[in-house]
Amino acid sequence: MSTTQISTDRLEAITSTILQPTAAAGVQGRTGRFEEVIAGLTSLITRHRPSGAEVLRFPPVMSRALLEKSGYLKSFPHLLGVVSSMTGTEAKIRALVEGRAAEQEWVDALAATDLVLTPAACYQVYPIVAARGDVPITGVIVDVESYCFRRETSAELGRMQAFRMREYVCIGAPETAVAFRESWKGKAQQLANQLGLPFTLLPASDPFFGRAGKLMAVNQVEQALKFELLVPVNSDEAPTACMSFNYHQDHFGTTWGLRTDGGAVAHTACAAFGLDRLTIALFATHGLDFEAWPLTVREALGI
Ligand code: ATP
Ligand code: ZN
Repeated sequence: MSTTQISTDRLEAITSTILQPTAAAGVQGRTGRFEEVIAGLTSLITRHRPSGAEVLRFPPVMSRALLEKSGYLKSFPHLLGVVSSMTGTEAKIRALVEGRAAEQEWVDALAATDLVLTPAACYQVYPIVAARGDVPITGVIVDVESYCFRRETSAELGRMQAFRMREYVCIGAPETAVAFRESWKGKAQQLANQLGLPFTLLPASDPFFGRAGKLMAVNQVEQALKFELLVPVNSDEAPTACMSFNYHQDHFGTTWGLRTDGGAVAHTACAAFGLDRLTIALFATHGLDFEAWPLTVREALGI
């Protein structure tokens, strides 16, 4: 792995000119140059799509009930964003929005709706597949993408509140899910090499909530359930997770009653690509001008 720290100037330029800052921390506009890379990455990942994968694209909101049933609130309540809307009579709402309600802000009239902001693309997939009946023993693969939201507390470059996540999700027998996850650990390294990104691939844990969460994180690492492909962006010491490879065991299978046609509870795994983070990592590694990027990288991305 390279040991050259990326210059502050370059990081600053990505923050302020490749991305368009907005009034909200961790929420950026994407410039044309940024989107060119996103488009290149999108088709590169598509070229690696497992054959037979079903394609599903989702808007950035999903059913609150579905996320509750997924167990998200137990693990990551601190990251969740909920869609709220106004309730009450017209007179009450008007008074609130016009600032005429005594000692009440308009936000006091908000009530949670049946929607939350999607925190990870794959949550939508499991109940949809479960509703179709038994999963073939050979497994099902879904290619999914969604804008995701996480109430991140830091706004360092690459830690956004809203970002795009592309995933290949595998549902099948335990050995099918494990083999899928293992194969993507390998393919992802090829992909990173194609993109000229220096990386490390390491066991990782999710940012579980609270003190009990620390134990869950330790357990996740011990059982080697999650791996991340990390690329130096802000520093070499704390590289940025640009892809992750997760084995959920029977968590979603049990939750959603997913069964293989052999009758056993299905296991699931996913390979997740942080499209915005990969794009930031590419600009951080290769610089701001496409002309200076290695030819092989430009070819891989079609830019
Ligand atoms: P981190 O460890 O950095 O918090 P994570 O392990 O929680 O990330 P995953 O849940 O595995 O991330 O999400 C899949 C991918 O989505 C990550 O590999 C990353 O590329 C991307 N991602 C996650 N959080 C963010 C974020 N806040 N901003 C931009 N991309 C993100
Ligand atoms: Zn996933």
